[in-house]
Amino acid sequence: MSSMNLGDQWRRVRARLHAELGEATFNSWFKQIDLIGVDDGRVMLSVPTRFIRNWVVSHYADRLAKLWADEDAGFSRVDVVVHSEGRPDPAPCADAVPERQERAAAPAAQPREDVVLANAVPQGFEDAGVGAPLDPRFTFEAFVVGKSNELAHAAARRVAEATDVTFNPLFLYGGVGLGKTHLMHAIAWEIRTRHPERKVLYLSAEKFMYQFVRALRFKDTMAFKQQFRSVDVLMIDDVQFISGKDSTQEEFFHTFNALIDHNRQVIISADRSPSDLEGIEERIRSRLGWGLAADIHPTDYELRLGILQAKADDMMSKNGPISIPPGVLEFLAHRIVSNVRELEGALKRVVAYASLVGRPITLDMAQEVLRDLLRSNDRKITIEEIQRRVAEYYNVRLADMLSARRARAVARPRQVAMYLSKQLTTRSLPEIGRKFGGRDHTTVIHAVRKIDELCSLDSGIEEDVDLLRRMLEGGHGAG
Ligand code: ADP
Ligand code: MG
Repeated sequence: MSSMNLGDQWRRVRARLHAELGEATFNSWFKQIDLIGVDDGRVMLSVPTRFIRNWVVSHYADRLAKLWADEDAGFSRVDVVVHSEGRPDPAPCADAVPERQERAAAPAAQPREDVVLANAVPQGFEDAGVGAPLDPRFTFEAFVVGKSNELAHAAARRVAEATDVTFNPLFLYGGVGLGKTHLMHAIAWEIRTRHPERKVLYLSAEKFMYQFVRALRFKDTMAFKQQFRSVDVLMIDDVQFISGKDSTQEEFFHTFNALIDHNRQVIISADRSPSDLEGIEERIRSRLGWGLAADIHPTDYELRLGILQAKADDMMSKNGPISIPPGVLEFLAHRIVSNVRELEGALKRVVAYASLVGRPITLDMAQEVLRDLLRSNDRKITIEEIQRRVAEYYNVRLADMLSARRARAVARPRQVAMYLSKQLTTRSLPEIGRKFGGRDHTTVIHAVRKIDELCSLDSGIEEDVDLLRRMLEGGHGAG
């Protein structure tokens, strides 16, 4: 078993798992699994979290062992370890891996320490450790409302304030870092103050599965069922993780149905709509969509600026005045478009830097401190910008980009612009064609091929294209 083909063997094992389990399940559990190495017939794999480790060991240990044994009969066992957070993978040396002995006991391992009940009222619940704690910052007061989240916010408010059950379930969905968890916690806080007697349980879908697997392991499923079914409000976050493994889905579905039938409020979040949840059975998906599904869209500039102002105010109310000159928040709102978490992180970084280094906050300083973040947030390049830049560069009229003229002096720049549009935007060929005076997509294909070919033949063109690309990517293309 030379290390040379170890990589190939690992690739084959992964490919077979992928084929057997399907995309969704494979991605949930094996996407981030790494091969550390093989030591004395023991194959060592690493995963990012304890939860995934436990799940993989309890569900797929035999399968993994078999697949490896198929590759090489000398591979007698498979160990899965958690690689330490923030640090690189442990060296491929067995002794450097502290958790390897836990294999047999894995599914019974203790849940993470953050296991607390959302609502501390009912006795005996805390010990069961079924819920997760609420973040004190995630309240309705701290949530800034804009066009992109107003429906989700209104629905969350309604559910939090209602005395009767209106939408069941409330299904909140949207991309990462757009406030789903924040809204769920806000609902829980609100109910907690209004109706302290109500049992509110908040947990992630991963934790739900964890609890269930654990209950199965300890043959304690009755208690498990009771815990979940005795709540007034159940919130399950990131439900896209409940995929694969039929028995867990089944249990989730029963719990869900039982609560809804008893008129208890259920609130679910996911990163996509109910109908787009892959790996979840059709009847469950459709049932999830029965109540109200409210999506949170990506933020717009106004909302980002509003959030930054709110966060800055909040920081000042806690840490005293901070001088943020005009233009800095606007700059951040313009340039950090990915999600609210990053936006918040950017502001914190600027403020922390200023206070640590003792420098005043300025636009220059913000740009410097956030260089990497800004690069990854580079705003989307549009076809119009590309056309304008290219026309300017080759000294032709912008209108010529769209015109039917075939003279080389305009045809070549037009092809360059089409080529860059294909490379730098996510527009389809027909869309690009339309933007260039309603041309056919085959014209765009031709342009892309032509420029590719010219670039390899003519270093002048290659340089032009390169320069233009860098100018556009650098964000200097905006007018
Ligand atoms: P998600 O669960 O959708 O991935 P979170 O709820 O964890 O996102 O939000 C990420 C961060 O952004 C949190 O710190 C949250 O407080 C903040 N955030 C998101 N949306 C808003 C908003 N509209 N107003 C204020 N803070 C927000
Ligand atoms: Mg979340």
